[in-house]
Amino acid sequence: MIGNNRHDDDLISDTLKTVFGFQTFRPNQENIIKSILDRQDVFAVMPTGGGKSLCYQLPAKILTGTAVIISPLISLMKDQVDAALENGIPAAFMNSSMTNQELSGVYRRLKENGIKLLYIAPERFVMPHFLETLKTFPISLFAIDEAHCISEWGHDFRPDYLSLSLIPKMFPDVPVSAFTATATQKVQKDIISKLGLRTPFVVRASFNRENLFYQVKSKTKIQIQILEFLKEHQGESGIIYRATRDSVMETADFLVSGGIKALPYHAGLSAVERSKNQEAFNKDEIQVIVATIAFGLGIDKSNVRFVVHADLPKNIEGYYQETGRAGRDGDTANCLLFFSRGDIPKIRYFIDQITDESERTIALEKLNQTVEYAAHNVCRRKHLLGFFGEDFPGDNCGACDICTGSVEQVDVTIDAQIIMSAISRTGQRFGIGHIIDIVTGADTKRVRALKHNEIKTYGAGKHRDKKHWRFLINELLAQDMMRQEGDPYPVLKLTPKGLNVLSGKEEAKALKREETVTRRIGRGDQGRYDEALFEILRSLRKKIAEEHQVPPYVIFSDKTLHEICRHFPVTLPDMRRINGVGDTKLERYGEDFIQKIKMYLDQNPGVIVPEGKPDYSSDPCESCSKTKKKGETVEETYEFFKKGMSIEDIAKLRNLAPSTIASHLEQLIRDGRKIDIDSLVDPAKRKEIEKFFLSREQWALNPIVEHFNGTVSYEEARLVRAWAYHRSST
Ligand code: ADP
Ligand code: ZN
Repeated sequence: MIGNNRHDDDLISDTLKTVFGFQTFRPNQENIIKSILDRQDVFAVMPTGGGKSLCYQLPAKILTGTAVIISPLISLMKDQVDAALENGIPAAFMNSSMTNQELSGVYRRLKENGIKLLYIAPERFVMPHFLETLKTFPISLFAIDEAHCISEWGHDFRPDYLSLSLIPKMFPDVPVSAFTATATQKVQKDIISKLGLRTPFVVRASFNRENLFYQVKSKTKIQIQILEFLKEHQGESGIIYRATRDSVMETADFLVSGGIKALPYHAGLSAVERSKNQEAFNKDEIQVIVATIAFGLGIDKSNVRFVVHADLPKNIEGYYQETGRAGRDGDTANCLLFFSRGDIPKIRYFIDQITDESERTIALEKLNQTVEYAAHNVCRRKHLLGFFGEDFPGDNCGACDICTGSVEQVDVTIDAQIIMSAISRTGQRFGIGHIIDIVTGADTKRVRALKHNEIKTYGAGKHRDKKHWRFLINELLAQDMMRQEGDPYPVLKLTPKGLNVLSGKEEAKALKREETVTRRIGRGDQGRYDEALFEILRSLRKKIAEEHQVPPYVIFSDKTLHEICRHFPVTLPDMRRINGVGDTKLERYGEDFIQKIKMYLDQNPGVIVPEGKPDYSSDPCESCSKTKKKGETVEETYEFFKKGMSIEDIAKLRNLAPSTIASHLEQLIRDGRKIDIDSLVDPAKRKEIEKFFLSREQWALNPIVEHFNGTVSYEEARLVRAWAYHRSST
């Protein structure tokens, strides 16, 4: 017990040891506890796992009366009460799930002074007279958890929280402390003023979690990669986050069949099943929980040894919070992100659905930030902390893949010098677009007017495409070798670090980009080919073969695929030039393969497409003229379609199979021609199909047709696919 004197240091550290069983305080805990014991208000931003609960539980144990904790999560309340009871602290909660009888039980214990910690949901404070009732009991302190919920500026505003502002007014002598894991300076100010905290002791703890190892790996065969990761982490407990419910189910099944004890968790499961699975995870009955981001709030399992993100997160705030669930006990834990540019269009698709323009811009910016996190050669920790406005001191954190050198890096000094020289020679007065125009030797009006086609660097980088240079500039910006200045037309300026690179005193390094052709080259009969693309096309071939119930080699031989993977054909005439691609196969499968190749090239800007044409299997002019015919026949279909004819009618009229007409329309949609999809596929059905595609890793048709039990035809699936893909990629 503490009187009016200053706190008793021995009592505090004894309580820490005897009641909580800890030897030392975590950063900031002691100061916060002392402030509360001094009856001062507190505002604390501490990262997840930073040990916020102890900050109010320890003073609650020492002070006379009952500590009231306001917490929005009913599930967490129960866990906290259980944990307190385990430590021998009398605790209870009050929330809407309780019967009147249970509530009067709590009031009775309050009267008898038999509760040290009372957890209450915020909505109770909106009820009339609740605070007056509370006033009749001796209250030692108020602690408000998830305090950012009071701010509209935060990401989780809850109107009930506004009523908490009455607390300091009604309890002038009781200290009020507010805790949150996420608050920008703006939100912090807002919380303090909305709650009416009285000159609080303010703590902004470092968000750095020293025991977490951050790592990004390129995502290729994700489920196998996860399984391999788990084999290296046998006996360790962890969370695998996936972007969609379907992929959660798929991965969970896959892991179970691979001998891993895993359960799924997502909002589509029943409440009973969710809590059963969560419980099994908490109790270490299973090793892994595979979950959407619906999982996590209210989880305070301390021995989570890894958090794996199998898909690209939508924003860094969420990512950091999710990884924060690892290693709360302070032991080393792994945070691994599997990154593929192929995930970008999926998220973009959802962003495109946002109708509010500024909201959409923010979402896009956030997506960009996660891509930058994954793609650039900057200490992951520094990058993440920088995001929360914290400058990580030192150059090497010692606990991320970049700092420990476990990523492959490439020397980009020469390319960096090309960019920097263009910036420097034009007086550091131009923006990204123009600088790229200069190095790629673009013949624009502006370049000519400014005579920038006469400088030495003009066209010095025309061997690489614009994407490459844009990426490199982002890299150099991230590495602080250059910066952007000015608004709304920012120009590029070199920093001292950049000048060192330009003058050759320092090297510039970038991360080796995923799946570049150099690393993944295989050898076929005719020489080198792109192995990664080969794998993609091979699985496409397998799917088609299954659809048609023929062996894969009947579709295309390996030799043909190898050749495709050497020449990357992206138009029908180019595809027709490949050995083994005749007119029929071109018509049947050409578009499917081209689509994959285009996607692959989009996602792997580092791949260099050779200039040379493949050897012609037949007279090139003949094949050209034949493919031209195909173009004409597509146009013919388009003419009929514009007249309002259905697929069946056009097929009949032209004496072609409906599937052929559908494939024509598919091509037209992909080319961005005006096609009213609603006239082809019922809108409600289209939405369902589209949803299914987007929830999958692949754009294959088979699973769709299977999923809808024959109510969706291949043609319909094809058309919606083309439409959805076109929308998400533009
Ligand atoms: P937060 O609410 O900030 O996310 P918690 O209060 O749940 O974090 O604490 C996270 C974990 O750290 C819990 O398992 C808790 O028991 C433990 N913990 C808290 N303080 C200490 C400490 N001083 N020493 C060791 N472990 C601690
Ligand atoms: Zn680092």
